[in-house]
Amino acid sequence: MTMKLPPLQKGAPQCELTVLNAGFYKASLHMLKKGFPKKKIWGPALFFLIKHPKQGYFLFDTGYSTRFLDATHAFPYRILRLATPVQISKKENAVEQLRDMNIHPSEVQIILSHMHVDHVGGIHDFPTSRIIVSQKEWEFTRRSSLRLFKNFYIKELFDRIDPANLQLIDFHGKASYGPFPNAVDLFQDGSMILVPLPGHAVGQMGLLVNGLMGKRYFLIADSVYVRENFRENLGGSKISKFAHYNNEQYTSLFPLLRKIEEDNLDVVLLPSHDPEIYRRFVENK
Ligand SMILES: [Zn+2]
Repeated sequence: MTMKLPPLQKGAPQCELTVLNAGFYKASLHMLKKGFPKKKIWGPALFFLIKHPKQGYFLFDTGYSTRFLDATHAFPYRILRLATPVQISKKENAVEQLRDMNIHPSEVQIILSHMHVDHVGGIHDFPTSRIIVSQKEWEFTRRSSLRLFKNFYIKELFDRIDPANLQLIDFHGKASYGPFPNAVDLFQDGSMILVPLPGHAVGQMGLLVNGLMGKRYFLIADSVYVRENFRENLGGSKISKFAHYNNEQYTSLFPLLRKIEEDNLDVVLLPSHDPEIYRRFVENK
């Protein structure tokens, strides 16, 4: 069965995509995929700037921020940075990188793939921005700080989001898109299409972006660590499984992602923590 994505209508707006990074986590390569050497690396926490010709600027996630370091200074949250050391400086915060590009935080709307610390870290630097997140993920994060912490969420990093700025995405009953039974075409123009990618987090979303010059990008967040995970249908080391909400659901997406890559040569799949993507796509190193 082919997994060819539906063709876009002629004249669908094309978005400019810039791959950025905010902070690094220390891990063993072996953790990202079984069979990789047990070599320590500083892995990236990518986020993405999208410029839609009519709708303006969007961020897909924010990466880490120095707020993570503040929030994990004391126990119990300190356990997080003891388990996974993080490096980030103020000038690497998403908001500062945008400022260097002359983009003011109020000009940006934010799509959150999910609400783990390395994706939502900078959200409080965008107090007036519209925030687009799946309803499932948002509802999950309404539980207590301590219960959330067990699943790698730090409530303090997002508890000041103004509910008036929220746009919750409910995929239930939405039309299908290619292999996805439900999807949300944000502007009904094919330029930015949200799809559910649950497993790593309960309400994780991916985003299909219609890029320039006939390229399409599929931002798949933490559906894999590295693209070799779906290409070889092989996940990370045993310990990496604890990072996922539902490991079975997580690995069940690998064949789908592989087929999407194989059957759509114009689509580039971009996970958020892949060192190769950082090397090849991030210009502002
Ligand atoms: Zn992540």
